[in-house]
Amino acid sequence: MTQQTADFETVRDWDNGNFVHPWEGMAGIGRNDRTFTEGGEGIYVSTQTGERLIDGPAGMWCVQIGYGNTEIAEAMAQQARELAYFSPFNNANSTSARLAHEIAKRTPGDLNHVFFTTGGSTAVDSALRFIQFRNNVLGLPEKKIVISRQKAYHGSTYLAASMSGKERDQGWLDQASHLTHFLPNVNPYVRAEGQSIEAFLDEKVADLENAILQTGADKVAAFIAEPILCSGGVIVPPAGYHKRCLEVCRRHDVLYISDEVVTGFGRMGHWFASEEVFDIVPDIITCAKGMTSGYVPMGACIISDRLIAEVSGDKSRDATFSNGFTYSGHPVSAAAALKNIEIIEREGILEHVRDVTPHFEARLGALADLPLVGDARGKGLLGCVECVADASADDVLALDKTVGAMIDAHCQENGLILRPIINMCVFSPPLIISESQIDQMFDILEYGIRKTTSDLVKQGVK
Ligand code: PMP
Repeated sequence: MTQQTADFETVRDWDNGNFVHPWEGMAGIGRNDRTFTEGGEGIYVSTQTGERLIDGPAGMWCVQIGYGNTEIAEAMAQQARELAYFSPFNNANSTSARLAHEIAKRTPGDLNHVFFTTGGSTAVDSALRFIQFRNNVLGLPEKKIVISRQKAYHGSTYLAASMSGKERDQGWLDQASHLTHFLPNVNPYVRAEGQSIEAFLDEKVADLENAILQTGADKVAAFIAEPILCSGGVIVPPAGYHKRCLEVCRRHDVLYISDEVVTGFGRMGHWFASEEVFDIVPDIITCAKGMTSGYVPMGACIISDRLIAEVSGDKSRDATFSNGFTYSGHPVSAAAALKNIEIIEREGILEHVRDVTPHFEARLGALADLPLVGDARGKGLLGCVECVADASADDVLALDKTVGAMIDAHCQENGLILRPIINMCVFSPPLIISESQIDQMFDILEYGIRKTTSDLVKQGVK
């Protein structure tokens, strides 16, 4: 809307000159010339030049119900007119209280205590701080180490970022590394040649137990895991992994945080993937993104009855969980989240995801036959193609650095946005995508991969 009074060149200058984007590469700052998305309807976004593109990653894995939903916009406007803000420190509000209750009704097991945050990072941060708090209250101040995994992504606040195991992101910023321990990659694609999936699974579970034993169970507070490592490249651990890891955690009084910032709110055809898909009831679930379908920021850290019981009551009369945000449970976000839940249920979107997932997975799997594709993997409406331009090179990733971006560029020319990550492209379309739109998406993606292959052949790489 603000562009009405400025031509596109001017607006692009504002973006290049004034807007520091997430993961801003300093080599290109000031001249990154990103694609502007200015409008959206259903699974499509439209660009500054009016092109309509399928939004492959649904924004950042979040626009579950699709763009341009006036019902959710109206619910937010209505709440803003009625009451735009309340102080969650001093007061309560019926919209936000109702949301906490509606979420608790949909969580697994005894996960009934919803601590609202401003997004996913603050949800993870709050989960970690709650566990520190719990151990301090219980007189276990030494129990502070959190076990995470290579390729994990848990956010961009200091503590959450410290739990993130993407090695390329770790070089330039400080980490709270005295609090972390990282387990090796759980991606079956990188297992040793000849190793069975069962042996790989045993090894990955043993990695966790050995880490706890070596560090000392009295020092390990928690294990944090995305059900599927999303930003790390949609890494799906072997079947049974989470359940067995939870058993290990239970044996050693290590709490289990399931980071469902991406997998929650329908991405896998269920409100939460932990129980329905992976058969675990963790101690804490973190969520954000799909909670409001991205219409407005909001996240939550959902804590079990058991943990709350441990730190409350007479035994901890003076304890205060000194962690909270001005916008915890913001009523406009809560109104959006409530309407989002209502729409997902009324439109049968969870069932829809379960219905179209086999087709999505079949089309995804077929990409593995293309010469450039090393692995094509996913689960639910989450997918990734990992490209290997020259598997015999010493540094495969160095060669592949821009392959994801090359594919994305070809796809954008043909109506599809992806999310390139080094040698990978990931995608997680709006949940309302139809089977024929899934075909459209994969047709374009296949074209983009083939076109990139011929570019590489011309460059003498492939
Ligand atoms: N956890 C996971 C699993 C995520 O994928 C993300 C964001 N991609 C976050 C946490 C951080 O969420 P946010 O960007 O909303 O802070």
